[in-house]
Amino acid sequence: MQTVAAFDRIGEENAFTVLARAAALQGQGRDIINLGIGQPDFRTPDHIVEAAIKALKDGHHGYTPASGLPQTREAVVRRTLQTTGIEISPDNVMIMPGGKPTMFAAITLFGEPGAEILYPDPGFPIYGSMIDYTGAKAVPIPIREENGFAFSAEETLSKITPATRLLIVNSPANPTGGVTPRREIEKLVAGLEKHPHVAIMSDEIYDVMTYDGEAHTSLLTFPEIRDRLIILNGWSKTWAMTGWRMGWSIWPNGPKSANLYDKVRKLAVNCWSCVNAPSQFAGIAAIDGPQDDVHAMLRAFDSRRKLVTEKMNAIDGIRCATPKGAFYAFPNIADTGFKAKDLASRLLEESGVALVGGPDFGAFGEGYVRLSCAASQERIEAAIGRIANFLDTNRPEQ
Ligand code: PLP
Repeated sequence: MQTVAAFDRIGEENAFTVLARAAALQGQGRDIINLGIGQPDFRTPDHIVEAAIKALKDGHHGYTPASGLPQTREAVVRRTLQTTGIEISPDNVMIMPGGKPTMFAAITLFGEPGAEILYPDPGFPIYGSMIDYTGAKAVPIPIREENGFAFSAEETLSKITPATRLLIVNSPANPTGGVTPRREIEKLVAGLEKHPHVAIMSDEIYDVMTYDGEAHTSLLTFPEIRDRLIILNGWSKTWAMTGWRMGWSIWPNGPKSANLYDKVRKLAVNCWSCVNAPSQFAGIAAIDGPQDDVHAMLRAFDSRRKLVTEKMNAIDGIRCATPKGAFYAFPNIADTGFKAKDLASRLLEESGVALVGGPDFGAFGEGYVRLSCAASQERIEAAIGRIANFLDTNRPEQ
């Protein structure tokens, strides 16, 4: 049997591997504190769950349109207006089974041998994996600690060549918690005017998760790039709905934009037909219903990131920038003498703390680990106590 080579180039999301190992150790009776996984440790708010149950009881069991139910797309239009001030049309909105399918669609629309795609490194691991799958050249944009883990417009623009087809940006960012300030995004957009051949995918799935008054800037607020801009967003993080598989994306529509929207709609028809109806009703309830639970979750993430920063910085050899967004911290562990993945794996096996090594997010992630603030303050404190104890007794020879 022979499968196509492209499949041998597909990578992994190692947070899932860490999760599986942590679960196996837990199964053996070990007490594992899991700071490895990128999902809120909160329940989906009740009114959202109720909306899905009601939809099922009301008989919404069948196929829905490939682009999503009209009323779910309308809800995304309302939500986009609230968060960005920009009025889009439902004809630009695709309801997707999670955030990842938008990545897949955008990258497979533009990636092929000979093409180049720019992506953040360290960044969400699926970007690089999917670019490799298409055979395009994956060109990393280094995301630097000294730049507050924001992307640099200048460095990004310097990587563009005539072969560049797609630029992927992500702010607030996984795995670093970096938020790129508006002035840097303005510089990027101004520079992109000289490169009209480059499409942009902006992954804004953490859009509401910013702290310290550092506001998120949506690329949607720049009309000059709208005809080549794809916005990735979804319900997973904001409303603690990772397992529902509910995402949305905003695409340019029409022949002037290479009919991107229609191409993705056809991809949906061919691959997943549609997103299940009860989840789409839940999605509407999430957008239109009370946001108290979301705000409570954000307050919890805010206190936890401060706690993580303070406690990690107190450990000799660790330097932890205060994350400005999302719910991750990305401490620099280079001075401990450990390689990041070795440290992550030994902490899991020997100290029962699950986190993810920086290189799982790209080569520029060496020297860092990602901690997800998805555990109670007590558990986070206990985890960092274990990390400190481990390092007290296990420093490698330097
Ligand atoms: N984009 C980023 C930056 C993420 O961190 C994640 C999930 O961790 C996703 C997209 C994917 O979201 P979903 O679980 O909805 O597919």
